[in-house]
Amino acid sequence: MKPKKELIFLPLGGSGEIGMNVNLYGCDGKWIMVDLGMTFGDPSYPGVELVLPDLTFIEKHRKDLLGVVLTHAHEDHIGAIPYLIQDLNVPLYATPFTAGLIAKKLQEEGIEDEIELNIIENEGSVEIGPFHCRYVPLAHSILEGNALLIDTPYGKIFHTGDWKLDENPVTGEPTTPAELSAIGDEGILALVGDSTNVFNKEASGSETGVREGLEAVVREQTGRVLITTFASNAARVKTIGDIAKATGRQLCMVGRSLHRIVEVAKANGYLKDFPTSIREDDAMKLPRDQVLILSTGTQGEPRAALSRISDRSHARIQLQEGDTVIYSSKQIPGNEVGISVVQNALAEQGVHIVTERQAHVHVSGHPGVPELEKMYGWIRPQIAVPVHGERRHMEEHARLAARVGVPQQIVPINGSAIRLAPGAPKVIDHVEHGRLVLDGDVIVPADGQTMVERRRLAHGGFIGVVLAMKGGRLAADPLIQIQGVPVEDEVEDFIEDCKDAAKAAVKKTAGKPVHALSEAVRVSVRRIAREWTGKKPVTKVDILEV
Ligand SMILES: [Zn+2]
Ligand SMILES: [Zn+2]
Repeated sequence: MKPKKELIFLPLGGSGEIGMNVNLYGCDGKWIMVDLGMTFGDPSYPGVELVLPDLTFIEKHRKDLLGVVLTHAHEDHIGAIPYLIQDLNVPLYATPFTAGLIAKKLQEEGIEDEIELNIIENEGSVEIGPFHCRYVPLAHSILEGNALLIDTPYGKIFHTGDWKLDENPVTGEPTTPAELSAIGDEGILALVGDSTNVFNKEASGSETGVREGLEAVVREQTGRVLITTFASNAARVKTIGDIAKATGRQLCMVGRSLHRIVEVAKANGYLKDFPTSIREDDAMKLPRDQVLILSTGTQGEPRAALSRISDRSHARIQLQEGDTVIYSSKQIPGNEVGISVVQNALAEQGVHIVTERQAHVHVSGHPGVPELEKMYGWIRPQIAVPVHGERRHMEEHARLAARVGVPQQIVPINGSAIRLAPGAPKVIDHVEHGRLVLDGDVIVPADGQTMVERRRLAHGGFIGVVLAMKGGRLAADPLIQIQGVPVEDEVEDFIEDCKDAAKAAVKKTAGKPVHALSEAVRVSVRRIAREWTGKKPVTKVDILEV
């Protein structure tokens, strides 16, 4: 598939899921990519932490890909860069703070000299082949959240990125309604936009409101206070720094990613008055009502600081009865179990827990219904293309767009090539797409042999059978090994039954070829496992001729 004299929108990730955003725009034979994100693993990928988009399609058309334009620095928008950019080997474009974090990722991967990283000033523009891209700042839960105004010979796209409206943001200067309305006056063909919070009837709310809510909770406390938030949420990090100063507490940041964000933010002129973080040892020596700990681990990530603090495995920071942990974040669906583990461990220590359900300590970075309605009123596109959502979010977003008078709506799925112009929007092709997983240091297909085997092992356990054969007969007792088969202390009886079954199968297939023998033994042993346990472990038979 190669774009002709037309404008194509083709998502390879992020349409039908929240995470892993990768969007292609194509015209006159060329493509640009907007964002290159990843998503976190889930129990269907045992042992995997990161999930990446499968870029096979665009790798095959690499010579037509002109670059990757990044909207903002959240992991679901830039997280796949260090793993996949070498295979694309095209220039990156980002605003200064986003570029600073990308540069760190490239350095960690040792590829900073191989990849061209172009820094575009805030509100700046860049010409990439037939695409003219202009950064349009919007409020979001990170510094330098941006929409992109993409001008092409076939019409203008307003690609919202992740956004919200905030009349009193604590950092940055989002584009005003008048400016957005002026963009709408230029005539916008399609708005491609964030569907995350389309089911929220209310607007997301201002960061300044959170400042008041958080400060009120901190003031009530007489013990240590720990606030956890996403490190990337620099606006919130700033808010928490301000609260430390206002309440006379010393700030102690715990977690490498927090230090990194603050460093990059300061290097780009943000967080100027941010208090210096005291050392963890010193924080523990201060009177408990004089310290405010800021930590990572809002989602119960086992290796994050809060998780280690909760089970007392953190080397320096400890909490005790009467201390308070405030979750200045939301629970991301899918993370409930991990979060509960941490909260229960904290509760066991007598630590008081405050979440957004008890106090106004968090606001979302994504637009609710009133904000979406306003944006459509300003931009007035011909076509609404919901992205950044599960299918249910995107369909609801399309209904909202219809309700506010957008003439046409089209809901994409990953891999669908949608012609936006000329003519009515239409799916004209489906291309290769999918997921990859980072397993240790190796990238493999999410549904390839490795993951299929891993899942089977995780679900059913393993039985290994070794047969020593001599002249078509067993030269010794079969050797049986089991892993993760639920027989507990009856393991010896179980193994005896497996041996008997293996021996009987060998006898029955005497004289047959080796593969028939091995299959007969495999089936017999697995049957024993099923009779004993109701499970079907992965069963492997090896035959040694002696
Ligand atoms: Zn996002
Ligand atoms: Zn975001």
